[in-house]
Amino acid sequence: MDGNRLKGKVALVTGAGSGIGRAVAAVFAREGAAVGINYFRNEEGARETLRHIEISGAEGELLKADVSKPGDAESIVTQLKNRFGKIDILVNNSGIGSESTPDRVTEISLADWDRVMDVNLKGVMLTSKFVLPGMMERKQGTIINISSIRGLLGNPNLASYCASKGGVVLLTRETALDYAGFGIRVNCICPGFVNTEMFRGYIEKQEDPGLALKVFEEMSPLNRVGEPEEIAKAVLFFAGDASSFVTGTALPVDGGYTASGARSIL
Ligand code: NAD
Repeated sequence: MDGNRLKGKVALVTGAGSGIGRAVAAVFAREGAAVGINYFRNEEGARETLRHIEISGAEGELLKADVSKPGDAESIVTQLKNRFGKIDILVNNSGIGSESTPDRVTEISLADWDRVMDVNLKGVMLTSKFVLPGMMERKQGTIINISSIRGLLGNPNLASYCASKGGVVLLTRETALDYAGFGIRVNCICPGFVNTEMFRGYIEKQEDPGLALKVFEEMSPLNRVGEPEEIAKAVLFFAGDASSFVTGTALPVDGGYTASGARSIL
């Protein structure tokens, strides 16, 4: 363990079988939290995350669910509470991009639009819906939603993704207001370009992936893409006492990308 910043806490991290979710689960475990590892299809990835947690000397629970399905979302909350008695921290990290190319209003299929909105936005609402009553009873808790710089700035060919992530920013602010009276804090993080499977898949789809990666690196003033652990460190800030007076915020963690108002050229 690195420290005791989350000692005795129980966290639920959605989409924790890969990328940012796995990094969050691992950082939480190193800080002493027990972690519920939600996954959907990637059981092998979730088991790998569990190994990271156990190496830290913490406990973890594998929780299979499609977060866009109410029954699934309710069931993983119940399972985690049955094992550890409570949930102190919820990280809504699961997310997908559209399978339609291009993801534009005139071209996207309704099925693709619905799927992106269901996972990226409805999923955040549903998991929160089932976790919040326990937090309200205990008059404490923190929720961290993973939006995107695409929830703050538009980007050509990302209609459903931008709309869903923009919704996450405003749902964060609205939820923060509704539950502040219970001592519950709700914040969101807007990652920039982060070196995960999702990002690498997007790069691979470009005509010249090598050039695309270079362009993405140069779009951030820090001149590189981020690593999942760098997002996880910001999530830890919101999860722990260091952010005790912070609620309803949307923090870009993007190497300075949004500071410049830069526009994607891909
Ligand atoms: P990722 O693909 O590794 O992680 C997404 C996770 O969500 C996967 O583990 C996947 O299995 C899970 N998931 C997908 N559908 C699900 C469902 N229906 N129910 C439960 N889980 C489901 O990619 P990542 O980059 O680690 O993405 C994590 C979050 O960060 C996403 O919300 C993504 O939109 C956001 N984000 C990523 C970047 C980036 O550059 N990588 C930038 C901004 C925002």
